[in-house]
Amino acid sequence: MATDAAVLLEALDFAAKKHRCQKRKDPEGTPYINHPIGVAKILSHEAGITDITVLQAAVLHDTVEDTNATFSEIEEKFGVLVRQIVEEVTDDKSLPKLQRKQLQIEHAPHCSHQAKLVKLADKLYNLRDLKRSTPVGWTEKRVQEYFVWASQVVKGLRGTQPILEERLDELFKERGIVI
Ligand code: NDP
Ligand code: ZN
Repeated sequence: MATDAAVLLEALDFAAKKHRCQKRKDPEGTPYINHPIGVAKILSHEAGITDITVLQAAVLHDTVEDTNATFSEIEEKFGVLVRQIVEEVTDDKSLPKLQRKQLQIEHAPHCSHQAKLVKLADKLYNLRDLKRSTPVGWTEKRVQEYFVWASQVVKGLRGTQPILEERLDELFKERGIVI
């Protein structure tokens, strides 16, 4: 039986290889892998999550959406539980962007507790990133619209993890978004 450290390193290695050519949208072009690592760290260090399947899913959460990784590959390497969480947090890329964003709002309340944790940490990371610096080509209006959309998704994730929800609420409040 592999240790928690070993299975987490396996996930980090997999995600780093899959995302190796990708960068974030910030002006510095930060390596993409910083994001899934940061999402897992929020869960572990801020929310105190020790469930290794959740931490693995956090590391892997954007691999299928944004790289050539497949759900079967994830299941084969990391098991069905990790696959299910990653599947729940993956948008259907065959749908138009606006519809995908609407579906995130609608699906959020029906996600498993584990998927809700990953979604909360993902939103918290992205909103902190937007607060830190504006992506290339984005207007202030677009940043604000992203915060408003994120608040609608988070509304459907309420009652999952008080610390993460409180930190998200603080960011929404700073932007004048009423919860
Ligand atoms: P996008 O969905 O295009 O981009 C946001 C996503 O990018 C985040 O959810 C995050 O996803 C990822 N990301 C990468 N780098 C960063 C970073 N530094 N900070 C935050 N997130 C980052 O954004 P929108 O929701 O604004 O766009 C929706 C659609 O509307 C798109 O088709 C867009 O082109 C279009 N559009 C919208 C405008 C507007 O004013 N709202 C204006 C022009 C076009 P992950 O967690 O998966 O990495
Ligand atoms: Zn993400």
